[in-house]
Parts: sequence; structure tokens; C-alpha cells
Amino acid sequence: MSVKTYTYCGPESLHSLIGQVMASLGYVGGRESRDVGAAITLRDDGSHLYVGCTFTEDGQSWSSEIGLLSKDDPRKLVKDCLIHWHQRFTGHGPGPWGTLIGVRPTKLVHHLFDQGLDERGAEKVLTDDYDVADKTAKDLVAMASLQRPYVTDRGRKIALYVGIPYCPSHCLYCSFPSRLIGGEGEDGLTAFRDAMLRDFDDLADLCRDYGLDVTSLYVGGGTPTCLPPWVLKPLMERLARNFPSVREWTVEAGRPDTAEEGVLTMLKDCGVNRISVNPQTMQQHLLDALGRRHSVDDIYTMYETCRKVGFSVINMDFIAGLPGQTVGDMQENMEIVCKLHPENVTIHTLALKNGHLYSITTCGKKFRWLT
Ligand code: SF4
Repeated sequence: MSVKTYTYCGPESLHSLIGQVMASLGYVGGRESRDVGAAITLRDDGSHLYVGCTFTEDGQSWSSEIGLLSKDDPRKLVKDCLIHWHQRFTGHGPGPWGTLIGVRPTKLVHHLFDQGLDERGAEKVLTDDYDVADKTAKDLVAMASLQRPYVTDRGRKIALYVGIPYCPSHCLYCSFPSRLIGGEGEDGLTAFRDAMLRDFDDLADLCRDYGLDVTSLYVGGGTPTCLPPWVLKPLMERLARNFPSVREWTVEAGRPDTAEEGVLTMLKDCGVNRISVNPQTMQQHLLDALGRRHSVDDIYTMYETCRKVGFSVINMDFIAGLPGQTVGDMQENMEIVCKLHPENVTIHTLALKNGHLYSITTCGKKFRWLT
């Protein structure tokens, strides 16, 4: 597997954004100074934010730097710079998704609707400001319009999503902001836990002030269950205490190698009533090529343990369209699902938004993802 890496030097507050943008371009964070495919620097002098990047591949390098006015929206500007520079370096034009990254592109359309734009106005922003292709913009706006009644008409009942940005390893296709748990020291994890606890308390106060009731809670990531128990347990206990009206509480125990019986029992005791086991696919060679570092047997073991611990609702996530995955593989996945009989099954389809991604070798064949 050939994976490109990037290094980053700049404000910590923009680190996760850089990780997300670079993942969408096919780079994972690296600590090594050799074989680096992209080196990014951000420097803030109080009036300007200087963004610099050097892309390197096959002995060819390309560098650029720009000073942005700090008062502008730096997150969008930094993201746009990196994506456009990468297009110039690779010679690939913008794909149908333009400069959009992340997994919920309709979220942006809902923001635009919230600002009072109609469908035509939202389409124009997507095509003009985000380089989205006309047809993709139309489809996105149509999808957000369908979702709209479910997003806006919830009365005083709200759903809360808690993101835990740590994982045991990086999956090949991932564009979520997440750090490797193994690279985080005890001090970092303590600071993370304490900041989350403060956030949960602030949020409970806000809900009380605005008369909002959290009835659905989803703890995802990242991989929440990769946190050590001394971090995860206090977080779960505080959520249970602060949000007692929750009717559905899901935790993503996404990686079967991270959720042992003791962890699952603790989650159940705290009130979690829906657990998500995420195999993504059930062929060992594909799991290996994706960098998931667990076996197919681990998935079966974890499923059985979830049942043994007493979860009555188990969700299983799969991805269709992984590189190297065949129709036969997907059929096998669905046959396994029918045998296991989880209450919920979620099938994601892989959409590549920017740049070219990794090349991987599986089954003796080389696959390269291109947009
Ligand atoms: S487990 Fe999820 S969040 Fe973590 S690297 Fe894999 S896809 Fe990304």
C-alpha cells in the first residue's frame, strides 16, 4: 500500500481542519521527515495568516505561499488554498464536489437555507463559492430540501452528537478529523477528558436556558471505544447525568479490536441502548488493505459479546464501493448480515471528493482512486 503523508506546523486550533482537508486529498498525517508528500505551514503574525505548502511526488516539488487577512474566514480560505494548489500540482481540475470535503455536504445547504436563501440561491453559492458542478449542486439542494422538514420541525426535542476524535489507526478512505490514540500522551488525554466534561456541563446549562430536551444521543468519532476506561467512563457517566431524557443513546464501537466485554458492559450500565459495530466489509484482504488492523473473526466475536452484554439494538455499518471490492464481496456481506440479524444496517456509499487518493494493492491487483 502506498500512502502519502503530510506534515503540519502551525496553530493547533487549525490542526484538525488541515487533517480533514489533507485526508480528502489522499494524505495522512506523518511524523517522519522523510518521504513526505506535502509539508504545510501556517503562521499568524496578528494581521495576516501565512499559508505555505510544498507538494512532492516522484522527485517533483511544487511550493506556494500566501498571506491571508486574519479577519477573513481562515478555515474556508486555508481549505480552498490547499485544494486549489493541489489541483495545480497534480494537473487535475476540480471534481464534481468542487472544494467540498467531509461526509455531510447537505449540512452546508441547510446553513444556506437558514440564512434565508432559496433553492436557486443555494445552488449559486455551491457553484460559485465552492466550485461544485451544476448537476451535483442541483442534487445536493434537492436532497437538502427533502431533509428539511425533519431537520427543522423537531419542536423543543433535539439530538446531540458527541465526536471523539481518536482512532487506533487511520482507515484508507477516512476524511474525519481524528488523531491516533497511540500518539497521545496521558496529559493530552486528561486535558481532552476535562474539556469534554466542561462542554457537557455548558451544554446542559444551555439546554436548560433554552428549554431544549436532548432525546437522542450519538457518540461517534473517531472511535470512542479506543479511549482508555479512565477517560471514557467519566464521559459516559456525565452524559447520563446531564441528559436524563435521552430515549436512544448510540455509541460507535466501530473497531471490533477496541471494544472488550468490560467496555461494552460499562456502556450498557451507563444507559447506552444502541451499539454500532462497524465491519465496513467482511473480506480480510480488504480490511488489511484499508489499514483497519482487525480480523473478520474479531467482528463476529464483538457481535456475540454485544448480544451477551444485552444490547437489544445493534447497528452494523458497511461501505459499498471500496477500492477492490467486488459485487460478490458485497453480496457476501449482505448474506452475513442476514445470518447475524442486527436490528439496524447502515450502508454508506464511498464518494471521493477531491484530488487523487492512494493506490493500494490487493488480490495482486493495483487500484488507484482518481476523481
Ligand atoms: S475508524 Fe472511522 S474515524 Fe477512525 S480512521 Fe477509520 S473511518 Fe476514520
